Amino acid sequence: MTAPTQRELAVVTGANRGLGLGVVRRLAERGHPVVLGARDAEKGARAAAHIDGDVVVRELDVSRQESVDDLAAWVREHHDGLGILVNNAAVHYDTWQTAIGADLAVAEEALSVNTLGAWRTTVALGDQLRSGARVVMVSSGSGSFGETGGAGGTPAYAVSKAALDMLTVKLSTDLRRRGVLVNAVCPGWVATDMGGAGGRPLDEGVDSILWAVDLPPDGPTGTFTRDGREVPW
Ligand code: NDP
Repeated sequence: MTAPTQRELAVVTGANRGLGLGVVRRLAERGHPVVLGARDAEKGARAAAHIDGDVVVRELDVSRQESVDDLAAWVREHHDGLGILVNNAAVHYDTWQTAIGADLAVAEEALSVNTLGAWRTTVALGDQLRSGARVVMVSSGSGSFGETGGAGGTPAYAVSKAALDMLTVKLSTDLRRRGVLVNAVCPGWVATDMGGAGGRPLDEGVDSILWAVDLPPDGPTGTFTRDGREVPW
């Protein structure tokens, strides 16, 4: 099992802005061919226009099975396996603050994108993950029982990220024997559209995510970290 080499394909979801775009930029700078997944391909193309490197924009709505399947078929046709998958796409609405006051349509969307989206994408691309591949689940301290005691984030978002964390553990167990490392990371509070002004610079959040890409071949799997340090589940 070896770490992903520079020539290996990376797929990043929700990558037309924010942290996902920052991750694409950095991986492309390193020489990886990168798929910039965007649910609106035009937005993706506008974002990719500012990046040097081997970046291909693919329309990818992680809440739609056929969209994820289309991406998997494209990867199968054009590449010999996948070295890096960054499940980054997410939604966060702050329209209601209590679970008892929930609009369950919003909760459904959060689960469909933030949790099932990462699951759907990893399953669809699963047989193409080569030995030594890295799967990164971009999670949040908002979903941590240990860190926030349930006080972090709005209910739909927090529940979706807590479930993503358990999914990380389950997938890491399944894929361990194939030498694939699956880890959850929190980027910290970052100044993006989602994080808002006041968060830390984008590059610091990107570093926190790339930590799980840059692990050595015998590195940990099934962990939850921020800036390379463990976050309680
Ligand atoms: P942004 O809101 O800036 O970007 C979210 C991205 O996800 C956009 O590209 C958006 O596309 C995309 N997206 C939304 N729904 C879908 C979908 N159904 N299919 C595909 N893509 C979709 O968020 P950030 O960059 O701040 O967040 C990135 C990750 O980091 C998320 O997982 C978030 O939960 C996590 N995080 C962020 C924190 C922060 O402070 N910023 C803190 C902790 C975690 P579109 O432009 O079309 O809407």
